[in-house]
Amino acid sequence: ETIGATLARTVASFGDNVALIDAAAKREWTYAEFHRDVRALAAGLVRLGVSPGDRVGLWSPNRFEWVLTQYATAEIGAILVNLNPAYRQNEIEYALAQSGTSVVVAAERFKDSAYASMLADARPNCPEVREVVLFDSAEWAALLTEPTAEEAARVAEIASALSPDDAINIQYTSGTTGFPKGATLSHRNIGNNGYLVGELLDYTDADRICLPVPFYHCFGMVMGNLAATSHGAAMVIPGPAFDPEATLAAVSEYRCTSLYGVPTMFIAELDLLDQTGAGSGASGPDESGAGSFDLSGLRTGIMAGSPCPEHVMRQVVDRMHMGQVSICYGMTETSPVSTQTRVDDPLELRVGTVGRVGPHLEIKVIDPVTGDTLQRGETGEFCTKGYSVMKGYWNDPEKTAEALDGDGWMHTGDLAVMDDAGYVRITGRIKDMVIRGGENVYPREIEEFLYTHPDILDAQVIGVPDEKYGEELMAWVRLREGAADFTQDDLRTFASGKIARHKIPRYVHVVKEFPMTVTGKVRKVQMRAEAVDILG
Ligand code: ATP
Ligand code: MG
Repeated sequence: ETIGATLARTVASFGDNVALIDAAAKREWTYAEFHRDVRALAAGLVRLGVSPGDRVGLWSPNRFEWVLTQYATAEIGAILVNLNPAYRQNEIEYALAQSGTSVVVAAERFKDSAYASMLADARPNCPEVREVVLFDSAEWAALLTEPTAEEAARVAEIASALSPDDAINIQYTSGTTGFPKGATLSHRNIGNNGYLVGELLDYTDADRICLPVPFYHCFGMVMGNLAATSHGAAMVIPGPAFDPEATLAAVSEYRCTSLYGVPTMFIAELDLLDQTGAGSGASGPDESGAGSFDLSGLRTGIMAGSPCPEHVMRQVVDRMHMGQVSICYGMTETSPVSTQTRVDDPLELRVGTVGRVGPHLEIKVIDPVTGDTLQRGETGEFCTKGYSVMKGYWNDPEKTAEALDGDGWMHTGDLAVMDDAGYVRITGRIKDMVIRGGENVYPREIEEFLYTHPDILDAQVIGVPDEKYGEELMAWVRLREGAADFTQDDLRTFASGKIARHKIPRYVHVVKEFPMTVTGKVRKVQMRAEAVDILG
């Protein structure tokens, strides 16, 4: 069914339940109130001339207007274009022009980014943009006024003609391995993924989900919002951007049952618990007063995006009460979740594995060269097929053909290994694999070895061109505070006898920070380009 139909069903069953809480705006909506505002905005967009299939850009940090726009565009079959709040001038122009966006709704600004003036500067380069409406403006307020009977009838007529297979969303990938690609997704893609992710977390209308993760990314908008609205659960927005204090305060104040984050967010929250002394006992808030949080309402949540260290997982379970926390793996192109741990999986499976295949999906691990399906225990490319696979990359048939084969399999570019019970481990990306002297080397394995050195805070290993071996290994390392230096000799002394000689990086480069994407992932493409310059 369409996203609008799912929402209408939830409203019919749970109209008086809380749908949305925006902690920063200090506002709350029941499902009935939320639906009323969604339909008002849908009518407002139709008044503005938006038709099914038109692209509507949404540029804003997390706030309630984001969620209203998400559901209002889906209601009328407009294609929502998620614009990353961290984008700057070039990126916003690229995304608007590439998607052919005609209407943009946006926050006035976010932190030091003046969206309004960047959008004004972008318009000459994005001729298809014909309207820009800023939240907090009179124009925006006018979009939300109560629709007339004819307008409401028009929205209902448009909604009833939509098909679940229509595109309703363009989400740009993180750009970790190159330029961001616009994954085009349908109601069926993301509506089902949100619903099924929620099913595996046992969501009911009694759940309240704290969402410090960005909505522009599928983590927030699908695994968060669509999982909530398909179960009558509440979405709780702790603030516009991640802040550990605001997050734990929202969990505490609104008695959230579920909390999402990437591992670094949980690490920051645990750090805060250490400082305030709260959460150290198994029960309730600390006596020390201000700054302590009551996390006893939590039971579950999602951790995704990158692997989670075991001691972090243990504390999330013990100190944050999240005994049912789930690890998910997926990508923008697959709506996003492909594999997920189950609420009753033992802790060991939530450290290192990304769970097993989600309902109604198929997965396989193939030899990236021959395409043959591999045995359990063998490393190869992770592929998936089913309702979750995107329609394609927006306006890019070539890239689409590289990713989707004729049989409907999405070739993810991720390296994985599946065990006998179907649990999957992600072991890196094909593009990051290094072929040194004809031998495949997996950087992740060497990085994990480097982490065991007491002076090394973080390490990344890349391949650099080499005349003799084709590629040589180079380690980029960030050192712990107080560590003097780390040279090639130090590395060789540390590694010899512990890992195979051909896996010991030939070059070492000490840095303060790695180049990162706006979604917080390390950009090895950029490191490889810089390495060529460094090595001359
Ligand atoms: P681009 O495709 O533009 O290079 P990207 O692949 O980083 O960027 P996303 O779609 O946001 O863009 O991220 C999906 C990728 O994130 C996956 O392909 C995988 O490499 C990684 N990933 C996602 N979840 C996990 C997880 N639980 N553990 C390890 N890696 C993960
Ligand atoms: Mg990708």
